[in-house]
Order: sequence, then C-alpha cells, then structure tokens
Amino acid sequence: MLGTTMDFPLTLQHVFERGTQLFPNREIVTGGLGPRHRYTYREMGQRVHRLASAFQRLGLQPGERVATFGWNHYRHLEMYFAIPMQGAVLHTLNIRLFHDQLTYIVNHAADRFIVVDRSLLPVLQKLAPTFDTVEKLIVVDDGADCEVGDALDYEELLASGAEHFDFPRLDENTAAMMCYTSGTTDNPKGVAYSHRALTLHSFGASLADSLGVSQRDTVLAVVPMFHANAWGLPYASTLVGAKQVFPGNSMAAERVLELMQDEGVTLGAGVPTIWIGALPLLQAGKYDLSTVTRIACGGSAAPRGLIDAYDKLGLNIVHAWGMTEMSPLGSVSVPLVELDAADPAVRLDFKACQGMAVPGVEARVLDGDGQQVAWDGQTMGELIVRGPWVTATYYNDDRSAASFTSDGWFRTGDIVVMHPNGFIEIADRTKDVIKSGGEWISSVALENALMAHPKVQEAAVIGVPDERWSERPMACVVPRPEFKGTVTEEELSTFLAQQFAKWWLPEHYLFLVELPKTSVGKFDKKAMRAQYAQVSI
Ligand code: ADP
Repeated sequence: MLGTTMDFPLTLQHVFERGTQLFPNREIVTGGLGPRHRYTYREMGQRVHRLASAFQRLGLQPGERVATFGWNHYRHLEMYFAIPMQGAVLHTLNIRLFHDQLTYIVNHAADRFIVVDRSLLPVLQKLAPTFDTVEKLIVVDDGADCEVGDALDYEELLASGAEHFDFPRLDENTAAMMCYTSGTTDNPKGVAYSHRALTLHSFGASLADSLGVSQRDTVLAVVPMFHANAWGLPYASTLVGAKQVFPGNSMAAERVLELMQDEGVTLGAGVPTIWIGALPLLQAGKYDLSTVTRIACGGSAAPRGLIDAYDKLGLNIVHAWGMTEMSPLGSVSVPLVELDAADPAVRLDFKACQGMAVPGVEARVLDGDGQQVAWDGQTMGELIVRGPWVTATYYNDDRSAASFTSDGWFRTGDIVVMHPNGFIEIADRTKDVIKSGGEWISSVALENALMAHPKVQEAAVIGVPDERWSERPMACVVPRPEFKGTVTEEELSTFLAQQFAKWWLPEHYLFLVELPKTSVGKFDKKAMRAQYAQVSI
C-alpha cells in the first residue's frame, strides 16, 4: 500500500522560497578587505531571479555546468541558488588547487562558464587555453585591479536578466552542485549533489542535535564556499532564515573575529587551524564574542586542548566530522544528556570525539576482514556510512568501486573507534595511521596530546620509514612564539609518556616555524612525509 502523502520534490527551490518569503528583511553581510556589503533576503531573492534569467538568455541549458572560482560572498550565494534552481549545475572550484588539477577538474566536469572573482582572474586567464569546454569567463568585481580582457562582468550580466524567472519544476534527483575532493594523492574525484541531498542536508544541519541552525542565528561560515558547500551552511541558513555573514576575501583571524563581534555572530564554523590562530587574540581579550553560542569545528580533528581553552573563555566548540562525499555533515559531538552528571574531564573527552552520526546518516565500523568491530571505544576499524546525502558513486570515475562496500556503503578511509554510546572517535585516516611493528598508532591522538602542552601551538605526527618497525612516529612541532627555541624534545616526550605506551612515543622531533597546510587549511601530512621523512634516517 502506498502512503497518501504528497510526492513533494525536495529541491533548493523550497529552501530559497522559504527563506526569501518568510524572512525578507533578514540580512546577508559580506566582509573582507574592502567595505562591508549588506543587503536583505528580499534583495538576494530579486537578484537570484534576474541572474537565472540572465544565464538563460546567455544560453545556459539544464544540466550544463557553471563553475565558480571565488571566495565567500553574497554573489556566490546568489549563484548557489540561481544556477541549480534553473536545472543547471553549480560547480565550485577550489581556488587553492594545483593548476594541473584545476585543468583536470574543469575538463572532467565539462564546465561551460566560469564565474571568477576579479582578484583570482590572473590564475584562470593563464589556464584558459587548457580548458576544453569553457566558453566565457564572467568576472565578479571585488575591487582588485586587474585587466579583464573579453570576460563578461557579473553585474552587467545580471542586469541583462528579466525581473522574474519561472523556475522549472525539477525532479529532486537532478544534480544541483558539484565538488571535487582535494585529491592529495591522485587526480581529484567529483561528487554531484542532488537537490534532494542538499535539501535534506539542510534539514539535517538544522536539527537541535546537529548544528541547530535556526532563524535566531547569525551564521558565519569561515569554511570556503568552494569546498564542500561551506558545510551546507548557506543552504541551511536560508532554509531557516538565519542572518548570514560571509568573510569575503579574507579569512585572517583578526578579520574573522572582528566580523563575529560586529555582526553579533551566534554560530561560527571553520577548520581547527582557524580557531587555533584566533585563540591568542581571544585570550588577550581583544574581542567580545558574547553573542556566540557555539563554534562548529571540523575538517580535521579539533584538539582536546583547543576545545578546553575555548571552554575556559566561555566559548563552546562543537566538534563535527564530515567529508566532501557527504555534502558534508556526518557526525556532531552533541552534549549527551547521560553525560550531564559525568566528571568534567569525561565530558571533555566526549566533546573532543567526532560525535554521533547525525539523523539521516548511518555509521558502522569494519575490521580488515569486513566484519563489524565491537563498539568498545578501543577496537580500531574503518568507518563506513550511508544516507540520503552520502554520494553513491564518484562522477564519471572508474576509481569509484574501491570506495564502496559490495552492499553499497561508502568507505570513508577514516580509522575510528566506536564508543558504546555511539560516539565516533577518529584515530586517523588510512593513509596517515602509523604502522609500527604490525600495530597501529593514531597520529591524531598524539597530535591532540602535543597540542594540549602549554608550549605547543601546532603539532602534526607522521609515520617515517623504519627498518625494524616499518614505520615510527615523528612529531613536527611549532612552539608558541614565546617558547621558540626553549621547548625541548625531552619535556614533550615526558609529557606524552604520562598518557601513552612507550612504543607510541615519537622517535623523532622536528621543531618548525610553521606546518605545511593543504588547500583547505588542514595539516598537509603528505607534504610533511615527503619533506621530512629523510631527516630521520
Ligand atoms: P580532503 O580530502 O580534501 O581533506 P574532505 O574535506 O572531504 O577533503 O576531508 C574529509 C576528511 O577530513 C575526513 O575523511 C576526515 O579524515 C577528515 N575530517 C573531517 N572532519 C574531521 C574531524 N572532526 N576530525 C578528524 N578528521 C576529520
């Protein structure tokens, strides 16, 4: 028997309609190096209609790809809606990828137009001859002084559109957006998110036991709109009518904190390196963040010490885990009611875990033989997931099969332990876990411990080749500025020895001025392995 409820398509048109109709006066603010821009949902909605119409007049057909190459700003938000809602696909390009990867991605996705921030135009102009399918560059004026050649101007394009656009009724499984993984080892792999996935993800992100985005919030995503949809926050915020704040072309800690203070941000979101960078400024009492109710932190492990330091400042870090392949939200470390009465140290332990799979996502942990491991908080295995916003394959890619189990679960490549209460704790990525004498050492656990040391600002632990043990841990440490040159290997080793078995302790220490980071601000362990592995031999 079929249900009698409506077959209502879950599309971004619903997300857009709800936000613009019910919250027309809510603000959208863009910061950055230039003057701050602000307008309302009403104006955003009007411009989205014009933009969609303009793209249609330009010849954009349903299913075709329009790429963006830009920072987080209101025009990027306009494209987040105008392009998918007319049935075309928005493809966000990671502005920090290597040039040959950009060429690969643009050609693989067969992008027809690329909308680019003027300050980033020189990169694309150089690459343009390598693009097979791109017909036109469209330039967003961000104040940069740069020759635009025969590129179209975004505002002129928009002005050429009609006031009203009749958005077509779309099948909810139509592709809305595309994003490619950062591809640290191989060519990036593409994911095409359906309207249904992004709409359900917006619901998922808005649940109280998730990121709890609501109309009362002022949301600042410091995570780039070119990477994993800025964690889906622009869509979730529009669905619920939250005030949105975009950092524009500057994600420097001072500017981010200034925006948070001035605009009364309640929910901030970003990778740990952002909040590590902001910590000394906050500790110096330079900014008033009293409106902030939570800071979502993820993309790589938020160190326990960082969460603790923020707690002490009255700032609540909510640890979240996700992946490009998951739109991206997978789990959130929610404050479990059963932990209310627990010891503060235990509560902090769980806060530092990656948390529970959010409603909509199912998670399991498999050992090397494909059997589920016990949920005992100790046994490591690979995390696999499934759900309506998890990709079922990579876009047009014959490498897909290796990433899925035979029954269709997505293999995350993350090594985790599952706690009895369902909390996921990431020990490592399969490629970063340190294999020492047939056992696994969690680089993340060692890093977390090191970053809790008062003299350490940042630390990454990598496996370096070892004749006897196959691999041994090496700690790459950036001391806090005031301890530069004085922090010693012995004191860090003694500190770690209080928490870890002897065979886990790093064999080698390197003291550095900074750690290499990936295009999205994570520690670049592949680069570290390439650069430093030989140092130890
Ligand atoms: P990339 O491969 O470019 O880093 P993603 O942003 O999709 O692309 O990265 C997803 C990966 O980031 C996850 O598989 C996991 O290893 C890591 N990650 C994300 N969030 C967390 C977190 N909270 N703690 C630890 N690792 C995380």
